Formats: sequence, C-alpha cells, structure tokens
Amino acid sequence: MTAKTPGNIFIISAASGTGKTTLVSRLLSVHADVRVSVSHTTRTPREGERHGEHYYFVGTAEFEDMIGSGGFLEHANVFGNYYGTSMAGLKALQNQGFDVILEIDVQGAAQVRRALPEAVSIFILPPSFSVLAERLRGRGTDSGQVIESRLRQARGEIEQSLLFDYIVVNRDLPTAEAQLSAIIRARRQTRGQQQKFIEELLSEQF
Ligand code: ADP
Ligand code: 5GP
Repeated sequence: MTAKTPGNIFIISAASGTGKTTLVSRLLSVHADVRVSVSHTTRTPREGERHGEHYYFVGTAEFEDMIGSGGFLEHANVFGNYYGTSMAGLKALQNQGFDVILEIDVQGAAQVRRALPEAVSIFILPPSFSVLAERLRGRGTDSGQVIESRLRQARGEIEQSLLFDYIVVNRDLPTAEAQLSAIIRARRQTRGQQQKFIEELLSEQF
C-alpha cells in the first residue's frame, strides 16, 4: 500500500472565551479525518478534564526536560503555565493521513508558522469585546479576577490576528463552524494534497 499523504496542519487561535474549544469540538464531530493534537501543560486539570484526552498534565521538571530534548514543535508560557505541542504526537497523527488542529495561543502560532510555513493559520474573533466578556462570565469556569486579566490580554492577542491566514468571526456557532469547515475542505484540494492521486492517475495503463 502506498504511504498516505501527510495531512494538513491547522493552527487555530483565539482570545480566551471566544468559543475556540466549542468550535473545535463541533468540527471534530463532523470531520472524521480531523484530529486535534493533545498538548502538554503544567496547569492543573479542571473538573472533568482527563490526562491524555484534554491535555497531558505534567510537572514543570518533566516539561523542561522535554524542552531540553527538543521534544516540542512549539511551547509557550500562557497565563503562568507552560503549554506545548509534542513533535512526536503531531507527526504520528499526520502520518496516518489525519488533518491536525493545533489549538494553541498566538506565541505558539508564531513559532509554528516559522517552523512549518505550510501550516494554515486561522484566528477566531469574537463579534465584540462586550460579547467576549459575556462569554467568559457565562462559561463560569474563571473568577472575576481571572476574567479581567483574560480580557486585558485579549486585545494584544486580537492585534496578532493580522498575522494569520484566515479570520473567522464567531457570532453564531453554525456560521462560524461552516466557515471553518470550508477552509478545511478547500485545503484538501490543493495540488500538494492531490499530487499522489495525480501520479496514480497518470501511471494508469489504458
Ligand atoms: P475558548 O475555548 O475560546 O476559551 P469556549 O469554547 O470555552 O471558549 O467558549 C466560551 C463560552 O462561550 C462557552 O460558555 C461557550 O458555550 C460560549 N460560546 C461559544 N461560542 C458561542 C456563540 N457563537 N454564541 C454564544 N455562546 C458561545
Ligand atoms: P486553557 O488553559 O484554557 O486550556 O488554555 C489556555 C491557552 O493556552 C489557550 O489560548 C490555548 O489555546 C493555549 N494552548 C493550549 N495548548 C497549547 C499548546 O500546546 N501550545 C501553546 N502555545 N498554547 C496552547
């Protein structure tokens, strides 16, 4: 059997509270050939989060050992904790032919764009700052103080959206999901993704 064409890499970033996690989980439920890369983090698990599913929850020493041994494609300190994308995890998914979503912050996105220029970057925007604040409060996972700090941080992150390939505004979930799906589908039709098929077609005897 011929090796599969490695899947595309989609970087998806947004200010906290925009709806990125909600949108990514909707995408995963409709695209059987898309996987999300499970990051490593030193933050403590939230209620309901499972090791190996939402994150690999590791200690600071283990995370720093992985940095030292070059195990991360990218890593960053976000809100006081380390987060990183393991090189091995990403390659394993890509080599099985899956498109892989990296749900990472803007610092990580900049590192991936440098390391893998072929990666497609998408920034999700809230319709307004007031809606962003409402979503953060409505989620009910963060204290008032944490919400204030996330909102302050949001402006700087949103300024970085100008460096991304695609912008999606998350006003209502079905529209934003459809726009993200369109980007994912279109990237599968690029010449690079279709090259193996073209070669097989041209090698056919008739
Ligand atoms: P993020 O992963 O970007 O931090 P979440 O996916 O946790 O954001 O979403 C933040 C909150 O906003 C959640 O309570 C979610 O249900 C809600 N939310 C997400 N998208 C929308 C939307 N389009 N309209 C209304 N509420 C939304
Ligand atoms: P949370 O703690 O709310 O799950 O995530 C906080 C922030 O860290 C989010 O912006 C999320 O996208 C980002 N993040 C999650 N995993 C990674 C990662 O592997 N690398 C980087 N750079 N950011 C990450």
